[in-house]
Order: sequence, then C-alpha cells, then structure tokens
Amino acid sequence: MTLLGEQRATLLVVDDMIENIEILNNVLSDHYRVLFATNGSDALAVAREQLPDLILLDVLMPEMDGREVCVRLKQNPDTREIPVIFVTAKDQEEDEEIGLQLGAVDYLTKPVRPGIVKLRVGIHLELKRYRDFLATLSLTDCLTGIPNRRRFDEFLKSEWLCAARTGRPLSLILADVDYFKAYNDHYGHPAGDRCLKTVAQTLAEGLSRRTDLVARYGGEEFACVLPATDHTGAMAIAERLRERVASRRSDHPLSPVCPFVTVSMGVATLRPDPHMEPQTLIESADHRLYQAKQAGRNRVLGDPNAAQIGDLT
Ligand code: GH3
Ligand code: MG
Ligand code: MG
Repeated sequence: MTLLGEQRATLLVVDDMIENIEILNNVLSDHYRVLFATNGSDALAVAREQLPDLILLDVLMPEMDGREVCVRLKQNPDTREIPVIFVTAKDQEEDEEIGLQLGAVDYLTKPVRPGIVKLRVGIHLELKRYRDFLATLSLTDCLTGIPNRRRFDEFLKSEWLCAARTGRPLSLILADVDYFKAYNDHYGHPAGDRCLKTVAQTLAEGLSRRTDLVARYGGEEFACVLPATDHTGAMAIAERLRERVASRRSDHPLSPVCPFVTVSMGVATLRPDPHMEPQTLIESADHRLYQAKQAGRNRVLGDPNAAQIGDLT
C-alpha cells in the first residue's frame, strides 16, 4: 500500500438501493476508501469491524431504518465517535431535526449534489481528525510520549470493573527512579528529562502483552497495569523491567546504590470486588515501593500474602 493509500480515510455508505451507493461511490472513491452496506444490520457489523472514519447513512430502509442504525452506533462506545451524515429523500424540516437530534453531524438530501457531498465529507473528516488528535493528546504524556496519568486512571478503572466481573486478578507495578533529584542536580534538568524518556521507553518496550499498559504516573514515577496477571507473574515482569532499566547502564555517578540509573518497584495484586476502589491497589503497590526504597533501592518488592490472592494456577 502506498503512503497516500495508508492515509486515506475510510467511508461507509449505507443504502438499500445499490444505485444510490454507486452514485456516492463515483463521487468519493477517488479520494477515499469506500465500504458499503445495503441494510442496517450489515452496516452495524461493518462499522464495528472496520471502524470507518465517517458513515453516510440512508434513512428509509426496510427492517432496520437509518435512525435505528444511528441510535445503535451511538450506544456502542467503539462506534459512538464515528460521525454520521444522513443522506435521504426525506427533506422536511422535522426529518432533518430528528436526524440531527439522534447525533448525526449533518444531513444531505437526495438527489445528492456531488460537489456539496465532497465538500461536506471533507469538512467532517477534517473535524474528526482534529478531535482524534486532541483525544490522543489529552491521554499522552508530552515529555515521554507514553500514556499519561489521565489515561492510567481511566484504564485502571475499566480494568478494575472488568476484573470484578470476571473474577480474574489484577496486578499493578509502581516504579520510581532512584535518587533522581541527585541525577538532576548533577546533569541538569534537560538531561533529567532525556533520562525519563529513556526509562519510559525501556519500560514500554519491556511489556509484551497488548493488554498491559505502562503510564507516567507523575514526576519520575511510572505505573504498569497488568490485567489477568497473578502475583507471581507480576513479580517476574517487574523484575524483568527493573533489570532492563539497570542493564542500559546509563551513568548516575551520584547514586549511592549503583553507578547507573536504576528503579525501585512495588507490586500489588488483587481480585477486585465491586465494593472496593482501585485506590486500594495503588496504595498497596505504593506501600511496597516505599519498602523497596527502604530496603536499599534498585529492587522489586511484592506482597508476601498476595500469592494466594492472585494465583491463576
Ligand atoms: P528516591 O530514590 O527516594 O526516589 O529519591 P529521588 O531523588 O528520586 O526522589 P525525590 O522525590 O526526592 O526527587 C524526585 C526528583 O524527580 C525531583 C524532581 O525534580 C525530579 N523530577 C520530577 N519530574 C521531573 C521531570 O519531568 N523532569 C526532570 N528532569 N526531573 C523531574
Ligand atoms: Mg518519586
Ligand atoms: Mg525517585
């Protein structure tokens, strides 16, 4: 696929009349990848699987009409943000009002005017791109490029609820760079920033499961959320991450524990129940992190009682 091809937006055109799909396809296929569906349930399935950037949706269709499709798209968190433009022969003011109230971003009437369709699709795609960009930005830590505290809070909460439903254990690692104030004092703040970037990358690359998340928790602290991971597994992952950071051998001459940059880690595991708050897990990991610092730093400390709590075997 060409670079241009990769950047092409994907549109989903939904209409029970194939002729109408052809008209829109002729107008749009030079600039966009166009998918189509001829009924409501296919439209929902394609939308869920392909996550198009925009949907052009006919209103009058047998079985499930366009309004119902729009309502269902808006109910599903995965498809809720996809902009919908109604394309319909229903041209009364009231029809248009209903369409927009259901969450559509625009309303076009048939017969479609090619120039107007192209322009409106372009405008809504641009707005969507900008919204996506802002959404990503609001969840990314600007220094290190990894997920930020807001993303961590959201992710932990949703994984907590998921674990409470499934009864599976949830593990959390909190990591803190050792003697980082001394690092800044010695090398200066810009070098400290570069060091934090490297630590963040090293941790992120050290997690292999797509379901795990590493985030910048604050200052020189990082957090790894490990869904469906028991305490033994989480301890092994934490030890591997600690080792990865130490083995980069980044000079830290003022550290009393090691001449290189190191991290200390606290690990906690729980089987969440709906009455508990995710804060319990954070406090437990933070307590172990404190103990790891007290015990000499550059080490991982877990919960001796958590082996039974989270054991998946
Ligand atoms: P400990 O081993 O007990 O964790 O000691 P420490 O010096 O790492 O801990 P302390 O909490 O005393 O200091 C943390 C330092 O991290 C102080 C702060 O200036 C630095 N820091 C926090 N955020 C940033 C950042 O974004 N960039 C840089 N360069 N430094 C930061
Ligand atoms: Mg700290
Ligand atoms: Mg520190």
